[in-house]
Amino acid sequence: MLPKLRTSPARKRKRRSHHALTKMNLVECPSCGATKHPHTACTDCGYVRPGLTLKTSGTV
Ligand SMILES: [Zn+2]
Repeated sequence: MLPKLRTSPARKRKRRSHHALTKMNLVECPSCGATKHPHTACTDCGYVRPGLTLKTSGTV
């Protein structure tokens, strides 16, 4: 089957107006300074919050 009507440039652009990617939110680890996702453990040092540090696998 073929489309009955060709999509106009304006219709195409309106559809794609929602396709933009949002910028990732990264924060700096207060322990080692590496960038990490907020509310997660740091992948470099395992820091979560004062008094809680998770062990890192060491494979990375
Ligand atoms: Zn860290």
